[in-house]
Amino acid sequence: MVAEGQVLDGGCLCGAIRYRLTGPSLFVSQCCCKDCQKATGTGHTTIVGIHRSQLALEGEPATYTNTGESGGSVTRHFCGTCAGRLYTSGDMPGEFIMVQAGSLDDPSAIAPESVIYLKDAASWDRFDPALPKYEVMQPRDNHTR
Ligand SMILES: [Zn+2]
Ligand SMILES: [Zn+2]
Repeated sequence: MVAEGQVLDGGCLCGAIRYRLTGPSLFVSQCCCKDCQKATGTGHTTIVGIHRSQLALEGEPATYTNTGESGGSVTRHFCGTCAGRLYTSGDMPGEFIMVQAGSLDDPSAIAPESVIYLKDAASWDRFDPALPKYEVMQPRDNHTR
């Protein structure tokens, strides 16, 4: 997790967009959903849940919005130049957003706490056996505090 008051910097591949996030994180998950696979071209994406107010952005990301599996709209924010993924927002309670952990300058500063949407995981993807795994979303209690 990102501790209360902990500050992490990140940005896209080309550096046009930079951000600073401030803890605490709400959750850190590996998401295997189909949309994350398509949007990232990888088996899963690692996301850090925070409130929108905990993210300070420099630069203007491009966005793409579609309808998520839950029926709400999901907007992915990325660099329009290098296509580096930054964060995802949507119709989620408490205005929380999910920052792509791979866009952190030091991705090892965080550690995944769960695996979600395991039902969509590619047969070859592998996860830390110690992590709790959920077929779809983690129960909401763990997403808000
Ligand atoms: Zn960029
Ligand atoms: Zn996902």
